[in-house]
Amino acid sequence: MNLGITNRIAVVTGGSEGIGKAAATILAEEGVNVVILARTQSKLDAAVAEISQTAVGSIQAISCDVSDAGSVESAFDAILSEHGKVDILVNNAGQGNANTFDSLTTQIVDDDYALKVHGAMYCSKAALPSMQAQKWGRIINITTAAGKAAGYSTLPTAMSRAAGIAMTKSMSKEYGVDNILVNTVCIGSIRSAQNMVKAEEAVASGAVATTEDYYTERCKDVPVLRVGEAREAGDLIAYLASERASYISGTAINMDGGAAPVV
Ligand code: NDP
Repeated sequence: MNLGITNRIAVVTGGSEGIGKAAATILAEEGVNVVILARTQSKLDAAVAEISQTAVGSIQAISCDVSDAGSVESAFDAILSEHGKVDILVNNAGQGNANTFDSLTTQIVDDDYALKVHGAMYCSKAALPSMQAQKWGRIINITTAAGKAAGYSTLPTAMSRAAGIAMTKSMSKEYGVDNILVNTVCIGSIRSAQNMVKAEEAVASGAVATTEDYYTERCKDVPVLRVGEAREAGDLIAYLASERASYISGTAINMDGGAAPVV
């Protein structure tokens, strides 16, 4: 399938690892000119080297903390001055943060919202004017199905992701008139950098023998009985970013092997 987005300009936050890197790789393979944002320069450099191997479009990295409004402004100033516009924005930067309500503090909630809600807001506000000017845009917010149906000990992630899902729906109503499509992908368990850290910690503590055992245990209640691969999420993100998804907006698609208790 030709996605019809050759030469589009995409920004993928959290693009140096995991799902973001997979999405950036696929978009670049489709001929999109991709800019990845993340905080750690060494990881960005490694990702650019890896993505370049199969990229058809250009691949570029800018160090940026999406929870910091000034950092986002600097990054988008650089992107807009070089490329003149942003066509596709993937708000992917984030990290699991799952606690009981009992252990929740205001600081934990504020930090989580700063990263996942404010970060997506700052980047969207920076990208939207050029999308509006050309009457074409795609915003894909990465969230999780806990934002639709919170499980035990899923706070504050379930709260910030509910906000992300609500923001997606509201933005889709506001910007449809400008042909800007806004959707969210609700991630379940996907093999990634943050999950590999958890897997290695589980091995170190003796809870499991191997990192694969960690994933097997974690996914025993997933209907398809396995962890997802970052590239599987990347494929959906690239599709939603494409010309082929031209009548899809305001949706929240579960990418979780059937794990969520809700559609
Ligand atoms: P990874 O841990 O593999 O990668 C996270 C990326 O985000 C890295 O590039 C990291 O780089 C970047 N990042 C983290 N904090 C910031 C920040 N403040 N500013 C800019 N970049 C940042 O993540 P995943 O692929 O697992 O997750 C991707 C998204 O999917 C996240 O939003 C996550 O919450 C969500 N998700 C993932 C699940 C999973 O099972 N993998 C489950 C549910 C949701 P650096 O640290 O250098 O900044």
